[in-house]
Parts: sequence; C-alpha cells; structure tokens
Amino acid sequence: MPVYNPPLRDMQFVLHEVFKVSDEFKAIPKHTDVDADTINAVLEEAGKFASQVTFPLNISGDEEGCTLDKATHEVTPPKGFKEAYAQYVEGGWAALSCDVEYGGQGLPFVLNQCLYEMLNSANQAWTMYPGLSHGAYEALHAHGTEEQKKIYLPRLTSGEWTGTMCLTEPHCGTDLGLLRTKAEPQPDGSYKLTGNKIFISAGEHDMTSNIVHLVLARLPDAPQGSKGISLFAVPKFNVGKDGEIGSRNSIYCGGLEHKMGIHGNATCQMVLEDAVGTMVGAPNKGLAAMFVMMNAARLGVGNQSLGLTEVAYQNALAYAKDRIQMRSLSGVKAKDKPADPIIVHPDVRKMLLTAKAYAEGGRALAIYCTLLLDKELHHPDEKVRKDSGEIVALLTPIVKAFLTDNGHIATNACMQVFGGHGFIKEWGMEQFVRDNRINMIYEGTNTIQSLDLLGRKVLGNNGATLKKFGKIVGALIAEEGVNEKMAEFINPLAYLADQMTKFTTELGFKGFQNPDEVGAAAVDYLRVAGHLVFGYFWARMAQTALREIAAGNTDKFYVAKLQTARFYFAKLFPETATLMRTARAGSKSLMDTDEALA
Ligand SMILES: Cc1cc2nc3c(=O)[nH]c(=O)nc-3n(C[C@H](O)[C@H](O)[C@H](O)COP(=O)(O)OP(=O)(O)OC[C@H]3O[C@@H](n4cnc5c(N)ncnc54)[C@H](O)[C@@H]3O)c2cc1C
Repeated sequence: MPVYNPPLRDMQFVLHEVFKVSDEFKAIPKHTDVDADTINAVLEEAGKFASQVTFPLNISGDEEGCTLDKATHEVTPPKGFKEAYAQYVEGGWAALSCDVEYGGQGLPFVLNQCLYEMLNSANQAWTMYPGLSHGAYEALHAHGTEEQKKIYLPRLTSGEWTGTMCLTEPHCGTDLGLLRTKAEPQPDGSYKLTGNKIFISAGEHDMTSNIVHLVLARLPDAPQGSKGISLFAVPKFNVGKDGEIGSRNSIYCGGLEHKMGIHGNATCQMVLEDAVGTMVGAPNKGLAAMFVMMNAARLGVGNQSLGLTEVAYQNALAYAKDRIQMRSLSGVKAKDKPADPIIVHPDVRKMLLTAKAYAEGGRALAIYCTLLLDKELHHPDEKVRKDSGEIVALLTPIVKAFLTDNGHIATNACMQVFGGHGFIKEWGMEQFVRDNRINMIYEGTNTIQSLDLLGRKVLGNNGATLKKFGKIVGALIAEEGVNEKMAEFINPLAYLADQMTKFTTELGFKGFQNPDEVGAAAVDYLRVAGHLVFGYFWARMAQTALREIAAGNTDKFYVAKLQTARFYFAKLFPETATLMRTARAGSKSLMDTDEALA
C-alpha cells in the first residue's frame, strides 16, 4: 500500500527561505498579519487532513468508481467521499482563500496552493469535487451580478454547494466556437438552456445540497464562432432570491464516462432540457468570463500533477531503499545482504532524482505563481499588480503543460523503479500514472497550451512579457555571476536565457512567413521555456542552500537541495539543446507528408 507524508519541510523552505512570503505579505495590507507561524500551522493541519482523511480513500475510490442511478439521474461517488467532503467543509478548508465578504477566511492563495498540492497527492479524484468550485467562485466573483454573487458566493465559499465548468460538447472540445447549446431569453430575464455537454467533471454527485454549473451556450441571435458564446449559471436545483433551494432544474446526468483514471471523480454527460439559468457577464462575452475559471483551473491542473509527482516519488524512494537486486557495479554495498538495495544503481537514482527535481522545481514555480496572484489582486501598487498579472499569464500555460508532462515522466519513472511490481495494482503506482494522464489533456491539451504560450503570450506581444521575466532571471545572473560556487547553476541558466531571445526571434520570423512553423515548434518551445523557468528556481534554491551552508547550518536538507540542483542542471536541463534543435527543424518534415499519412 502506498504512503504519503506531506512535504511540509520543503514547502516551508520555498515559502519562507526562498520567497520570504511573510515579508512580501507585509507590503499587502490584506495579508500583513500572515506570518510564518500562521502559515506553518495551517499547512500542518492541511497535511493531516490530506494524509489522514482523503489519502486512505484513494485506492478504494479508484476500485469502486462512481455509480449512476439511471432512473433518478443521481450519481453516488465512492464510499467515504461524501463524509470526507463533510469534514473538509466542517474544517473550513473550502473557505481558506475566499473573500471575507462572502464568509471566506481571506488567507493568501499561496496557502490554498499548498493545501491543494497535498490534496492532489492524497487523492486527485476526490480533490476535483471541491477543486472545480474555486474556478466557479472566481468566475462569479469577477463577472457575476450582485444577485448571483449574493446567492452563489457564500455557498461556494463555505463548500455547502460545489461548482462545475460545462464547456465541452460531443463535437467540440478545443474549438469552442463550434458549440451548439442554446439559451433562449425568458420574459423574467432568465434563460432556458437546451443541449448536451460531455466530460463534465464532478457534474453530478450527492456530496452537497446543490451544484452550480457554469455553462457556455449561444443566444438565438449570436454571431457564429467564439464571438457568439455566452456564459450562464445553471443550478441543479432552482434557487430563490435568498438562495433557498427550490424545484429540480432540468440539467441532469445522462451517463457516466468509463475512463483510464480518476475513477472516483464523476465525469458526466450532462443533458440540458430547458434548464433555467441566469447570464454571467455580458451577452456573447462568455468565453472571456469563462477564462477566469479556465485560468484558475489551468494552474489547478498543473498542481494535480505536482501532487502526483510528489507522492509517486515518496513511494519509489522507499521501495528503492528496501528492494534488493544485483550488486552495485562499483562493489558490494550491503555486505550483510545477498544483494544490494536497488538505490545503488545509477539509473534507479536517475529515475528517483528526476521525480524529486520535478516535484521540488514544480513546487517552487507553483508557489511563485500563486504569490504573484496574491500581488495581482491585492498589492497596493498598481504597477506591481499589473506586472504580476502579466507574468502569471505568461507562466500559466507553462504550469499547466510543463508540470503535467513532467508528472507523466515522473510517475512513469517511479512506477519503473518498482519493476514488475509497479505494474501490479496493489502497490498503487500504476494508479498515479493513470490518474496523471488526463492532466495533459483537459483544460486545453498541452499542445493548445504551447500555442497559447508561443503564439499569444510571447509572439502576440512581441516578447514584451517574456522580456519582463527575462529581467527577473537577469537580476539573479547579475547578482551571482561572479560567485564561483554558483557558476554550475548560473552559467547554464545565463546561456539558455541568452539563447532564448535569439530562438524566439527566429521562430517569430519563420512564423510570420508560415504560421505552421509556430504550430510545429510550439510544444518544443514550451518545454524549453519550462526549463528556463525551472532553471531560475533551481538556481534560487541552490543559492539559498549555499548561503545556509556557508553560515554554518549543518541541516542535511540543504546538502540534499544542492545535490538535487546539480542533478537537475546536469541531467534534465540539457534537453533544451535537443528541443531547440527539433523546434528549428521546422514544419516541412511534418507538412510535406501527405503520402506518408495517406
Ligand atoms: C476525464 C475528463 C474530464 C474532463 N472535464 C471537463 C470539464 O469538467 N469540463 C469541460 O468542459 N470539459 C472537460 N473535459 C474535456 C476536455 O477539456 C477536452 O477533452 C479537451 O479540451 C480536448 O478536447 P477534445 O477531447 O474535444 O479533443 P479535440 O479538440 O478534438 O482535439 C483532438 C486532438 O487535436 C489536437 N488539436 C486540436 N486543435 C488543434 C490545433 N489548433 N493545433 C494543434 N492541435 C490541435 C488536440 O491537441 C488533441 O490532441 C474533460 C475531459 C476528460 C477526458
């Protein structure tokens, strides 16, 4: 059976020692009182909740899955999920980072980030029930009417109700401009929605008394394509003006998907038959409003893979220390045993360190992004708010795609550490691989993320935001450029930062002549950008560790951090050279292939 220990020490390192978040919060009036003790206390309790309440339901939830009663359309999640959710609500976890105006605790997003990393490690399928509510909360907070806010926000904040996002239809996932669900205006100002949505996560369940579905649909006179999409709040049960629950609305689950992973989460086909809803935001501007939810969800999906990378690593490490097979190439290590533990073998170490480097690098990136979100929303200085928002927008596709691709690599590597036993269910490793796989697909596939990064966020503004991030990297390079002890981290980072400018300009130029060049290079480009970002955070973490060691701190944690940084720069970061080469190989070998693909 797998184990999970919340990585509190590493979280504290990133929060307090690398980013010094309490100092950052002192500049944000809303968070001035959030000190290290408060953060540590919250995270300790969050870790207990994840490891003791939801983690024990991970394997049983996977085995049992969800069931649909075809007569009533009610869905029952696996045993224990409902009770765990009640404990989550009771503990106030749903409200952690929500606005105090709606009953939230108003704590920084950074705390919610760490809570959710642990929940995802413990049980991704369960975590998606409350997880989607955060996106619905944010979309309604940003674009809802006063009445919608009054009805929905306090209940999403408390966790009394959950939220979903209903975008996908059978004939359209990536290209939402094709969607057909209709919304007919009613004399009382409401709308009646009719259509079919598929793949709706947490679309139906019995864990809460109501579910608010955020649904994309078209008005009768809407323009074609993505410019004709509006957003609607459609509750499972109709609600009165004060939020009291009324009759059953005609939005229901018509079927459950049978899928590769996340079995404990209900992936629903949702049928709308004149379902009553209210518009969120302006007519035909639904995609913009939905993007608030989608951006939150994209960071959330990256966090899902971060959680799975961490838990897979912990279990592979324990196994590699215990399992004995063959002798070390460089001589016997465990003389008292008939063979050495497999951790002596270089390639087993490579697999373990890959997962560790991706987990710890991902944690730094995810925490950094949510700190920027805290600044974007609450910093008193307008320029800080604006710059923070721009950099979060740049980093969002990287969090979503780089962390989920890394999660795929890491969970597979950790399963491989178990040899044949990794393939056998009882060890729990194959579940991490299966559960992670969807993270590369939903919320916009990783290809779509790469087009968003290269096409929109980099070339779309002539590299202006990339340059802003480049300045942040440049400041570290300038600060540490003469420090010999940092050279092994700073030199490759400086080289890539320099290459990145030329690489981007070159792709921009080629893309201008032939847009397929952007499509052919984007996935490789995102991975190079991901390493630039990880390289920056690994260099910062190495800097902090080196300073502690120089100051006489003998905690082995810092030695471990430095060793992992060395591994990252020696064995993972160099793939950027190959990626730049394949990106530069262009589109011809892809597009001149009609015969090959005939
Ligand atoms: C378990 C699960 C849960 C989900 N949860 C939700 C949910 O809660 N709400 C919701 O609305 N949806 C949800 N989805 C849907 C998910 O977001 C979509 O499946 C995803 O966005 C891809 O859409 P699609 O499946 O229609 O694939 P398609 O859009 O048909 O894409 C097929 C392939 O073509 C590629 N492709 C498409 N266009 C381009 C392009 N321009 N350039 C390059 N490549 C391209 C894609 O990257 C992909 O590889 C879920 C899906 C699953 C499986």
